[in-house]
Amino acid sequence: MREGEFAHLAAHLDELEAKGLRLNFRVLEGPQGAWLTIEGRRLLNLCSNNYLGLADHPRLKEAARAAIQTWGVGPGAVRTIAGTMSLHAELEEKLAAFKQVEAVVALQSGFNANGAVIPAITGPEDVIISDALNHASIIDGVRLSKAARRVYAHADVDDLRRVLGEPEVSGARQRLIITDGVFSMDGDIAPLDEIVAVAEEHDAVVMVDDAHGEGVLGAHGRGIVDHFGLHGRCAIEVGTLSKAFGVVGGFVAGLRTLIDYIRQQGRPFLFSTGLSPADTAAAIAAVELLAADDTLVRTLWANADAFRSGLEALGFDTCRTRTPIIPVMLCEAELAQTFSRRLFEEGVYAMAIGFPIVPRGKARIRAMISAAHSREDLDLALGTFARIGRELGVIEASAE
Ligand code: PMP
Repeated sequence: MREGEFAHLAAHLDELEAKGLRLNFRVLEGPQGAWLTIEGRRLLNLCSNNYLGLADHPRLKEAARAAIQTWGVGPGAVRTIAGTMSLHAELEEKLAAFKQVEAVVALQSGFNANGAVIPAITGPEDVIISDALNHASIIDGVRLSKAARRVYAHADVDDLRRVLGEPEVSGARQRLIITDGVFSMDGDIAPLDEIVAVAEEHDAVVMVDDAHGEGVLGAHGRGIVDHFGLHGRCAIEVGTLSKAFGVVGGFVAGLRTLIDYIRQQGRPFLFSTGLSPADTAAAIAAVELLAADDTLVRTLWANADAFRSGLEALGFDTCRTRTPIIPVMLCEAELAQTFSRRLFEEGVYAMAIGFPIVPRGKARIRAMISAAHSREDLDLALGTFARIGRELGVIEASAE
């Protein structure tokens, strides 16, 4: 390396370090599950999106193993050349049936699903109207589009209505409203029923990125559209296979015309190789498992409800969110960092989240609950939160 090369990058890394913003991620020494092995220690895991415990599920692992035997390890070409296997078609058909839509296209990730759909279906004649707290992959998808952009205040349907009333918005060829389904920092559910109603008033199209709602919300985990009974009224659903489905990959679900169009014009679909046979087969197994049996979804909700009410009984503020993403509000970033470090020392892995990911003064520990947790696991976590909460003066010493 020449001297001084990447000096600006090194300076930026130093700056991030100085501000406490440099990410130091942990390395797992075993599979994803209710417990993790990190630095040789077993830790109770409150950090993962493995909502249903499928990431290490025997049925998915067997499906992946069998697919490798039959299909090998790589698809060998992009989907539009020689890389579409009948496994991909099977996954797309099964997902379409599960989601109760006409068609699905599978992508390499949820991130790429947003990058495939948003720029492909919008042009300079259109306007995209995006929730202020939408995920980075939506923001990047919007940046890649030539459409005009507007942002409405988070989950604020009145503000959305105001934006839709602007002349440049109402006069556009197409109005595309985009929202996350479940917001990953606060765990709140988008008011999709109201958003769809407002969209219908203003002849707008609605797209929901249900990354944290797939496998979680609705009957059998069919997602936020099912949760609100909006089948046929939300034109575009984006999902991921990497969270509740336990594997990796993403998809877009909707009308056949939309999906056909993404297959023709969605750049991550056209120019990047598709899912591996093992991932595809494991995802098929996940969809089959969920379609046949909702036990894991029920367990997830029972676990999340038990953990949230346990925290509230102790006096913690959980923002009263209802999903398995449970923020434990601590306000000050430093306190959240100390709390997370103490949890780690005591054998519980839960992330502290502070500015700039959430606004100043809204730092928290984010606890992610899974169906893989046993009630003993959750009791142990609650006991640890109680001990550290008292030690750091977050809850009263007398709290049970
Ligand atoms: N959308 C949302 C709302 C997400 O939270 C995430 C993952 N953090 C993604 C998209 C990206 O999904 P994937 O990890 O499959 O790329």
